[in-house]
Amino acid sequence: MELQIYIDGDFFPESEAKVSVFDHGLLYGDGIFEGIRFYNGRVFKLDEHLDRLWDSARAIALTIPISKKELEQATLATIRQNGLRDGYIRLLVTRGKGNLGLSPDRCPKASVIIIAATIQLYPPEVYERGMVVVTCGTRRASSAALSPAVKSLNYLNNIMAKVEANLAQADEGLMLNEQGFVAECTGDNVFTVKNGVIMTPPVYSGSLCGITWQAVLDIAAELGISVKVQEMTRYDIYVADEFFLTGTAAEVIAAVKLDGREIGDGKPGPITNRIIAKFRELTQSTGTPIDG
Ligand code: PMP
Repeated sequence: MELQIYIDGDFFPESEAKVSVFDHGLLYGDGIFEGIRFYNGRVFKLDEHLDRLWDSARAIALTIPISKKELEQATLATIRQNGLRDGYIRLLVTRGKGNLGLSPDRCPKASVIIIAATIQLYPPEVYERGMVVVTCGTRRASSAALSPAVKSLNYLNNIMAKVEANLAQADEGLMLNEQGFVAECTGDNVFTVKNGVIMTPPVYSGSLCGITWQAVLDIAAELGISVKVQEMTRYDIYVADEFFLTGTAAEVIAAVKLDGREIGDGKPGPITNRIIAKFRELTQSTGTPIDG
């Protein structure tokens, strides 16, 4: 059975779900997106994802052609249309069809695409052993050029770093900002634990304001674990007791090596495991019901 894809108000089977070759999302990476998970019949942090999508749109002066409420309903309808209870949504808003010039003023209407599918980012053994991470030479794009807070369709900066990580046979690549401070991984936010205190870089170091990142900060507050949100260098990770990454697709995942150095005792740590357990509880018990 083919996936049913939502495009601008209609559903199309996967084989017929197509966009114009003149869409500026394709021609220029001009557009925005969200990756959203649903668990056990509920969409996790849907309002937060839609709010971030609207912020991304505002930042790139893109008008989303439907209201937030309509997009929420369209997202839920797409999941129902595909008969899924657990899975991943890719929600895109492209600048729409224009001409070959880069100016968006020739794109009269943005396009909304919603794909609901299943996902497994890393095999289960990576969650058990923890990820191997290397620092990439490719720096995270400067906020002065294009803010990493915008979840845009132009992911080449991250992809260049991912290519480096792949060539080094690592699971993920750590990206520094232009000043050399830790920004984030290619598709995940970064945390450490040292002497029982969680540390993570602020968004202004050059990361996406991760929904999972925020969920982990909330969990830490609930568990009474102290958190320092501050600029970090690789030193802070090398000397940490624990290292973990967060993202909608990867969820919360331990990392055990950076640049060939074992972090802590080289195994997923106890605070990481507590946060993973709490995060799972949250994903299984909260969210917007798919059935309305
Ligand atoms: N940073 C980048 C570059 C990302 O693409 C993502 C999403 N995969 C994240 C961080 C994590 O954000 P979230 O928790 O909202 O998925």
